[in-house]
Amino acid sequence: MQPKPIFFDGIPVFTQPGHNSEVYLNLPLLSFGWPTIAVDTHIFRVSNRTNFAKGKDVGAVEEKLDKVVLREFKVDVHHWLILHGRYVCTARKPKCGSCLIEDLCEFKDKIEV
Ligand code: SF4
Repeated sequence: MQPKPIFFDGIPVFTQPGHNSEVYLNLPLLSFGWPTIAVDTHIFRVSNRTNFAKGKDVGAVEEKLDKVVLREFKVDVHHWLILHGRYVCTARKPKCGSCLIEDLCEFKDKIEV
């Protein structure tokens, strides 16, 4: 299988078959501070639950986030979504009762913890 290019600011970043683009997009983000949102499991879950950037796979969510988040906020949004998914909007028991964006979230199975 051929490596799949992801374009970042017009620069092709190549992924290997079976590897998640998160690894490749985190490199420019963390190393050089380039504005990108590397979708991991937390960002994927929060984006889909809230309906902020719905997508069936990581690539679809990345594309939508790239379109709706302004360039100057991308690095911060990347970290906010990861932290929100890790500590509040957790996979098994999201803490919807104490979630600051509960009124904005469109998740149908909210848990009042
Ligand atoms: S309300 Fe619940 S499901 Fe929605 S973002 Fe907050 S913790 Fe996640």
